[in-house]
Formats: sequence, C-alpha cells, structure tokens
Amino acid sequence: YLQGKYALITGSTSGIGLAIAKSLAVKGCNVILNGFGSEEEIDKIKETIQSDYDVTVHYCYCDLAKAEDIDNLVQEVFSLCPTLDILVNNAGFQKSAEIEDLTIENWQKNIDVMLTAPFKLIKAFLPKMRDEEFGRIINVSSILGSLGSTGEAAYCSVKHGIIGLTKAVALEVAEANITCNVICPGAVKTPLFMTYIKVMSETSGIREKKILHEAMDKFPSKDWVPVESISEMIAFLCSHSARGTNGSTLVIDAATSID
Ligand code: NAD
Repeated sequence: YLQGKYALITGSTSGIGLAIAKSLAVKGCNVILNGFGSEEEIDKIKETIQSDYDVTVHYCYCDLAKAEDIDNLVQEVFSLCPTLDILVNNAGFQKSAEIEDLTIENWQKNIDVMLTAPFKLIKAFLPKMRDEEFGRIINVSSILGSLGSTGEAAYCSVKHGIIGLTKAVALEVAEANITCNVICPGAVKTPLFMTYIKVMSETSGIREKKILHEAMDKFPSKDWVPVESISEMIAFLCSHSARGTNGSTLVIDAATSID
C-alpha cells in the first residue's frame, strides 16, 4: 500500500531505523537511508533492501548534529524525489551521565540530533507535503519520553520534547491529510541498548550478563520488545487507513511502563 511513495528514515543504517526501512520497503515504498556506517556496510544494506523488495533505495550521508549537513540532506532528498511522502525522525544515541557530570556538549548534542534535527526536517519537507495533500511524519521517542531515569537527564529531556513537537505539528497539519505521530519504544535489542548495558557494566563493575539478566527480569514479558512491533506500527501509520491517528503517542513497550 505504499507503492511509489518515498520515505526518508534518519538513523536507518542500524537497529530500529533499519527495521523501519525494511517494513516500508516490503509495502512498496522507496526508501532513503541515513546514518553512520562503513561504505561496505551501507552498500550491503542498500543492495539487500533493493533486491529483496524491488524498490529504489538511496543513502544520504548526514551528521544530524551539523546544521550544514542537514541543509545538504534536504537538498539531496529533493533532488532524489520531487516530494517526500514520509519522514521518520528516528536517529538517536544514548550517552548517559548523571547531572553533575553531564557536559554542556553532551546536552547540546542530544538537543541537536534528537530535537533540532527533527524540527528542521519537518519544517523543510512540510510545504511539499501540503502541496501534495499527503504526508506522514513519525517521530521516535522512548518510554523515557514520559518517565525519568538516573543518568538520562539529556535523553529524557529530548524524548519528552519530541512528544510536544509532535502534538503541536499534528494540530497544525490536521486539515491537510498529513499526520504526525510519535512512537515510544521500550527496550529493543539494538546496538544502542547493548552499548548502554556495556557502559552500565563499566561504571558499576557488575558483569554485563548480570545487568542484562536483572533488567530483563523487570520486564513484564521477560523479553525484548520485538523490533517489528515498532517498524510494522510505523508502516501502518504511513497508510491511508491510518489518517485518523494524528498527534498520538504510541507506547510500544510490552507493558513495561504501566503505572
Ligand atoms: P542504533 O544505535 O541501532 O541506531 C541509531 C541510528 O542513528 C544509527 O543508524 C546511527 O548511525 C544513527 N545516528 C546516531 N547519531 C546520528 C547523527 N548524529 N546523525 C545521523 N545519524 C545518527 O539505535 P536504535 O536502538 O535503533 O535507536 C533508534 C531510535 O530509537 C533512537 O532515537 C533511540 O533513542 C530510540 N529508542 C531505542 C530504544 C532501544 O531500546 N533500542 C528504546 C527507546 C527508544
């Protein structure tokens, strides 16, 4: 149901973003990938998606922490497709630090990559979506978008912030057949989460396996949130049938954060 459409998925060289790219491609959507990785890795991802799903796949380099890169990304996307139908603001990182140790550089990078970049990309692509009378914007927050967590002041701040951005944009586009929604995943097994466990282990001196075991034990499902639970929800949100879902915060955490 996404045949012929174009989607830009930020941070799609790995983890959740890569799964989103595949879930969209399988529905016929052409995808524009972004994120870090070696040339070989990225070429392999491109080739696999292209041959498995028979869609057009592009990759655009952009460090979303850099204003100039974002301007170039927007130009490149417009040169690849006249209008962008779907924008998924997914790219992110987690660099934990308790407030006294949280540097202004770390704080600023969180804001730049996970809040300012989504704002800029929405602002850049929205006018053409309005012209086309179709658009789907999906932002990726976290369960830490509504909860606090030690060592996560910067991450919690931006993940709360992107929910506010989503709700405000949703109201502004409500009459234009454009929707803007936000997804809040629980723990998904990706390089981001595994790095987080590694850092916790290094700072606490507790073995990674033990930290992981204790964390999993606290999850109601005793398991990770499957990545396809996130990516397939996003694919649905991109469909025409999902036009009634706008400004929604969709928590996909296997019941982890129920009060
Ligand atoms: P990941 O590390 O597997 O992927 C992150 C992607 O973002 C990669 O492609 C990376 O290259 C890209 N990226 C990072 N910094 C970038 C920058 N400055 N410019 C461009 N690209 C950049 O992580 P993931 O777990 O797949 O995370 C994806 C999103 O999901 C993030 O926003 C994260 O906060 C969110 N999230 C993840 C979890 C989880 O448990 N994994 C839970 C809740 C929310």
